[in-house]
Amino acid sequence: MIPLVKTHIAPPEEMMPAIEKILYSGYIAEGQAVYDFEERFGKYVKNPLTLALNSGTAALHIALLLLNIGPGDEVISTALTAEPTNTTIALTGAKIVWADIDPQTGLLSPESVEEKITENTKAIMLVHYAGMVCDMDKFNAISQKYNIPIIEDTAHALGACYNGKPIGSNSRFTAFSFQAIKHFTTVDGGALSLTNEEDYVAARKLRWFGLDKKVPRLQNDITRAGYKYGMNNVTATIGSVQLAHLKETIDRHIENGKYFDKMLSNIPGVYLLNYYDNTMPSYWLYTMKVEDRDNFIKKMEEVGVTASPLHHRSDTHSVFADSKCDLPNLDAFYQSFVHIPCGWWVTDEERELIVNTIKKGW
Ligand SMILES: *Cc1c(COP(=O)(O)O)cnc(C)c1O
Repeated sequence: MIPLVKTHIAPPEEMMPAIEKILYSGYIAEGQAVYDFEERFGKYVKNPLTLALNSGTAALHIALLLLNIGPGDEVISTALTAEPTNTTIALTGAKIVWADIDPQTGLLSPESVEEKITENTKAIMLVHYAGMVCDMDKFNAISQKYNIPIIEDTAHALGACYNGKPIGSNSRFTAFSFQAIKHFTTVDGGALSLTNEEDYVAARKLRWFGLDKKVPRLQNDITRAGYKYGMNNVTATIGSVQLAHLKETIDRHIENGKYFDKMLSNIPGVYLLNYYDNTMPSYWLYTMKVEDRDNFIKKMEEVGVTASPLHHRSDTHSVFADSKCDLPNLDAFYQSFVHIPCGWWVTDEERELIVNTIKKGW
């Protein structure tokens, strides 16, 4: 079966010597290898204020902590995402307020978000779902108008662009995930990109108990308790080797995605999604709406292709029961959307097979 997601690891002749060297270097905790990795990754996303962490979840959590979000506060979010987007909000004690999606894209609707803003709204959580970029023109305007910061959950959208620049410096907080099945992996890991020095310094402390690594341990004074959220030299070394392949893997996702955009248009029963102005997706998955989804998935399975909606909508989890509200656009989208594989592992022959199978009907 052609999978929907797949782990990409650099070849052993590049990876293994680097791992062996760092493992036996005597320094496997956070050190120079981490700082080198974050400098390189920061260059890729064009934001030097980037911190390497042990997960994307940690990045989201630190962003929420920097905004001092807690009980009594509200964070507007989407239910169409992977769970950590919303479990991290729940961890702060804030209330999640669901906004509805735009039926043409599956991404949060700026109009719905604006309607849900109250005096308690402390942040807007945007998810660039499946690699597609939210309507940043409109969200930036909303963020400015109400003075509410945006957190971009970019776990699915590394390499996606807004205004020709990689996602990573548009909003006050951008969270990346390097978990096994994302575009780019360090086995596990993540990063948080920030847009001001003060947040950067505070985030650096929060990732290491509240201590400042730039100040000698005996002179440190913890003013706010932090977490153990940093990356270590071993996963950072893996990340630095992986980075050499980042561009080629993401380029192939995009090439396959553009191929599907072209070849799947005008097929009865298939409804392609729109991309917003000034955005370019990085096609972690290829997402569309189809009629008779169950049969579509069966038909794809018959030719060895995985097709699936993949994510369970967040608002149906018991832990988020207090946030329950009507989301009619999401209800409709959730019945018909499906992902097909479009990553670096999908060959020219395989993508043709996918298109031809869909063209034949299901
Ligand atoms: C993977 C993922 C995360 C969390 O990243 P981890 O590195 O696994 O902690 C957050 N949000 C979304 C949408 C994800 O898919």
